[in-house]
Amino acid sequence: MAFCIENKLNWLYIDINSYFVTIEQQLNPDLRYKPVVVVPLLSDSTCAIAASHEAKLLGIKTGTKIYEAKKLCPELICLEARHKVYVEYHDKIFQEIDLYLKVDHIFSIDEGACRLTGKYCLPQEAMAIARILKKTIQNNVGDYITCSIGIASNRYLAKIASNMQKPDGLVIIRPDELPEALYKLKLNALPGIGAKTKERILKSGISSIEELCKLNAIKLKTTWGNVWGEKVWHLIRGADLPLEETKNSSIGHSQVLAPESRGVDIARNILVTLILKAANRLRSQVLYTNSILLTLETMPRRSIKDRIKTELSCDNNKLLKIVLKSWDNLIKINNLKNIRKISVSLHGLQKKSAQLSFGDFHNQKKQEHLSKVVDLVNKKYGHNIVTIGVPASIHEIKPIIAFGHIPRETGKGKSLK
Ligand SMILES: [Mg+2]
Repeated sequence: MAFCIENKLNWLYIDINSYFVTIEQQLNPDLRYKPVVVVPLLSDSTCAIAASHEAKLLGIKTGTKIYEAKKLCPELICLEARHKVYVEYHDKIFQEIDLYLKVDHIFSIDEGACRLTGKYCLPQEAMAIARILKKTIQNNVGDYITCSIGIASNRYLAKIASNMQKPDGLVIIRPDELPEALYKLKLNALPGIGAKTKERILKSGISSIEELCKLNAIKLKTTWGNVWGEKVWHLIRGADLPLEETKNSSIGHSQVLAPESRGVDIARNILVTLILKAANRLRSQVLYTNSILLTLETMPRRSIKDRIKTELSCDNNKLLKIVLKSWDNLIKINNLKNIRKISVSLHGLQKKSAQLSFGDFHNQKKQEHLSKVVDLVNKKYGHNIVTIGVPASIHEIKPIIAFGHIPRETGKGKSLK
């Protein structure tokens, strides 16, 4: 691979700081400058899904168990997540940004990237527009909302830059400073280096970004363990590679059940809701699945999984039957009485139903059509006005907290990436 490395800035990456907590602090000034976490439900056994800057200074971060967090900070304030409010603020924030720069990619509820063009490719102008974005968010959306902005020649480096200063950061990585500007960072500051890749890199005798940067492209590929390594070699030198869109490799929903809903009967109904939501998203993206993963977490903590292969499907009836059969088996075989968490995910996603078996073709098409009619009716008249197999009230479960997918009130979620 050979790429022309231009000496200009092409991308601005914006990351709202401590998003869920910041929105809570925006709405309630009494929470500001205090250790606050947002949790999926009010229980000491759950984890923080966001932590305020003050909580982070005490060692509490996303993923910290609440009973551990309370040991670190007995006066910690725990707030139950309010999905709808966070999505409304997401929309307001990105609408404001869009007035100044085109938002090319939204990666999660609080992160997005804009391509810089014209004069904004120059460092001073890029810094100036970044400051305007910060100000416009504070003036027009919420005075307590801060963000960290990274600017660089490619999206990969812009994201790294956005992580280099928190909160309220503004960092430019200039092409002529590469790759030396990255040397001070920890290995896992490079997107793509998770726990496994880090272990692999360390095992190969590399312990710093500086050492990693000094490898040639082929060696970096083998050290990294896949072709991403070679791509990263070019990215960390500033090449603005076309980063192909990451296709959804799966569609899933999960739910931690409130203590009163952990009995097998109620939990089964919640599973129905989860699979129907996943199937709805599948159809909204015109996709089919050929593999379903059902994971049950029990009390005491134990994880039980079942992966079910199927012919390509997208209709409610078929997916529901498969997943309920698997559920019934798991409950019976393992003699389960309490379910703490249910996750269901659809894998092997494909665009066309090319493998539909001929004999079943007409029936499957009929079921797909029926499912799409249900989607349309629900979209028009309200979420879950038409339900399958369970009372409507069961469908009133809490929305899944938005990280990589932004769920909406009705219809499909906002497409990310
Ligand atoms: Mg953030």
